[in-house]
Amino acid sequence: MFQLNESEMNITFQTEPFTSPFWDVVQTASQMELKTKLPEAIQNRDWNELDIIFQNITHQMSFYSATYVVLPHMVRLLEQVMSEGDAAHAHTLIFNLGICLMTDIPENRSEETDSPILDDYNAAAQKLAGLTKQYLNTYEAQLRELDEDLRSMLFVATLAILGERETTYAAFDQLASGAIDELSLVCGGDCEYYEECYEPQEEQDAEIVLAAEYQSGAWDGSSYQNAFIWTSAVADLLGLENQLEVLRYLYGTFTCPECGKTQRVIDFMVTYLTEG
Ligand SMILES: [Zn+2]
Repeated sequence: MFQLNESEMNITFQTEPFTSPFWDVVQTASQMELKTKLPEAIQNRDWNELDIIFQNITHQMSFYSATYVVLPHMVRLLEQVMSEGDAAHAHTLIFNLGICLMTDIPENRSEETDSPILDDYNAAAQKLAGLTKQYLNTYEAQLRELDEDLRSMLFVATLAILGERETTYAAFDQLASGAIDELSLVCGGDCEYYEECYEPQEEQDAEIVLAAEYQSGAWDGSSYQNAFIWTSAVADLLGLENQLEVLRYLYGTFTCPECGKTQRVIDFMVTYLTEG
């Protein structure tokens, strides 16, 4: 399903040595001693401890600067786990790494970092994109047999990893749960219109949001300009029918009944996220 190009698979990056002074200055939620805990957890494949580390850098969907140095090490681990054919732990890593990238949006960063560390971080994130595509291609049939929760986790992670960080962050609850009745509509700007629980099934609401139409098989597997098309193709691949419906509304056209402004629902949500 996903087309992979050679340059994507040949990306190289360095991992920050554990002797580096960076480990002493980067932030986590509970100021974990990462420079000793992370190498131990990776060495011993201590999945419990690795989970604690991920929780420490994604706590309450905030961004922590330790992500810059932790992520490349975790992507390296993912490469190893995938080469061993360990699909279950690859799933765990891809999910957690997707959440890490989802939190890395401008609204969440307290300060901008300008450091060579970022080059390796960004290269590792690109490598992660290639590995995620490879994972979905390889295990497509098995993935469809997984519990819906596990498929939903992989879905939101894939969206963030392949480039839709902000929209995934803004619509996380709806995308993760697949619950269309959690759709809230907000116009923003000077307009006060706010609908906490928009119910698309109700007839009187039908004119407020015009849902986008998804065509199965329409995606070429390589272009990411039209987020509705490729994110729907991922939901389709994972057999997530509820999420497909959620995407139709997120990428549908909202016309504000109060001021008449028209925009995609997801754009209103992102604006609300960035402007408060
Ligand atoms: Zn309005």
